[in-house]
Amino acid sequence: MSKPVVATASLAGCFGCHMSVLDIDERILTLIDLVEFNKSPIDDIKTFTKQCDIGIIEGGCCNSENVENLRLFRKHCKILIALGECAIMGGLPAMRNGIPVKECLEEAYLNCPTVDDGIIPNDDELPMILDRVYPLHEIVKIDYYLPGCPPMADLIWNALVALLEGKPLDLPYEVVKFD
Ligand code: SF4
Repeated sequence: MSKPVVATASLAGCFGCHMSVLDIDERILTLIDLVEFNKSPIDDIKTFTKQCDIGIIEGGCCNSENVENLRLFRKHCKILIALGECAIMGGLPAMRNGIPVKECLEEAYLNCPTVDDGIIPNDDELPMILDRVYPLHEIVKIDYYLPGCPPMADLIWNALVALLEGKPLDLPYEVVKFD
């Protein structure tokens, strides 16, 4: 019988949520038995090769590439999970949301004390920065939210096992951590 297929991505995140996935320790061996990974930094598959059962996204959307990638995940995954505060609320990157983009770019690339003869990057290949950092649910439908910065490994494990077994997510309070 074919295994459920899982895909993961980090958008505007720090990869801490992915580290938390790896923090399930030896259960990673059970996970590999239970599921097949498709597009994910975990197996370094860069593009979808099939439809997936579960998509797990870390980080919000700060640029056009993030939006494109998120829409691709929505299209290819039956269930989409927002993993961690950046995905759920924008998190740390959203601290720029109260500041105009022009001001952010000038501060980072022109006016910062460590910049000498700066230039604001403008190569056509670069993704377009968005006016603010968007949480995932403002762009596509999200099915489940796993909070934390990062979410605890036990929370990720419990949620994945429940979804794979088709059971309701019964997550004890002890594994739901918000900071
Ligand atoms: S929620 Fe925390 S750990 Fe996860 S990507 Fe954001 S900053 Fe990193």
